[in-house]
Amino acid sequence: KIKDRYVQIIFGSDMDEKVLLLIDLTPMKKYENLKKDFIANVSHELKTPVATMKLLLETLEEECKDKPQAEKFLRKAIERVNYMEQLIEDLITLSMLESVNFPVKITTVKLKPFIEKIVHDLSEFAEKRKITVKVEIPDNISIKIDEKMFHAIMKNLIDNAIKYNKEGGSVEIAFKEYTNEIEISVCDTGQGIPCSHIPFIFERFYRVERSRSRKLGGTGLGLSIVKLATERLKGKVELESEEGKGTCFRIYLPKC
Ligand code: ADP
Repeated sequence: KIKDRYVQIIFGSDMDEKVLLLIDLTPMKKYENLKKDFIANVSHELKTPVATMKLLLETLEEECKDKPQAEKFLRKAIERVNYMEQLIEDLITLSMLESVNFPVKITTVKLKPFIEKIVHDLSEFAEKRKITVKVEIPDNISIKIDEKMFHAIMKNLIDNAIKYNKEGGSVEIAFKEYTNEIEISVCDTGQGIPCSHIPFIFERFYRVERSRSRKLGGTGLGLSIVKLATERLKGKVELESEEGKGTCFRIYLPKC
C-alpha cells in the first residue's frame, strides 16, 4: 500500500548518514484519474453529435448527386467526420483499458471464427487495396481470453497490416502453442517500419508518416491500444520489420 502512495528518494552513500525523502503521490494520482475520467466523459459526450452530423451529411450528399462541387465538399466533410468517429472510439477504448472499473473478463473463445469475423469486417477495406488476408489457424483451437480486449488487439493489428501494405500484397495471421503461452502473429508484405522509429511506435499519436496515416484513416492510437490491452492480459507484444519487405507483430499471451 505504502509503495503505491509514496516514492522514496535516498540521498548519500554513507552507511550512517542518509536522507530519506518521501513524496506523497496521492494528489498526482488523483489528478491523473481526473484527467482520464475527463477524456472518457468528453469522448462519450461527443459520440452522439458526431454520429448525427455524419447522418445529416450523408443525407445531404444524396441530395447533391447532381452538383459535383457540393458533392466533393460533402465527401471531404464525411471523411473528416469518419476520422472523428474513429478517434472518439479509440479514446473510449483507451480509457476502458486504463480503468480499474473495467476488470478483465475471461471467457472461452473459438479462435478461428473469432479472427475470421474481424477479417470479414475489414474485407471491404482489404478488397479496395487488393490485399489477400490468410488465416492460418487450426479449426479446433479455443482460448480463454477477455473478448473485448482481444478484439481490440487483433482488429488494430490486422487493420494496420492491410493499411500499410502495398497494393496487391498479403497478410498472414498464424497461431503457435507453447507450454505456458500462445503466440498469435500478424505478418504483412508492406512497407516495413524504419529501425529508428521502432522504439516509439507504441506511443500515443506516434506515426511514421503522419499524412499517410491520416489519409488512410489512422488516429495514431492503434498500437498504444494493442500494447495496453496485451499488458492487461499479462502478455507481451514483439515486432520484427524489414523496410520494403514487411512487418510481423507477435502477441504472446499466457495460457489460463
Ligand atoms: P495509425 O492509426 O496511424 O495506424 P498506430 O498506432 O496503429 O496508428 O500505428 C502507429 C504507426 O506505426 C503508423 O502510423 C504507421 O506509421 C506504423 N505502423 C503500424 N503498423 C504498421 C505496419 N504493419 N507496417 C508498417 N507500419 C506500421
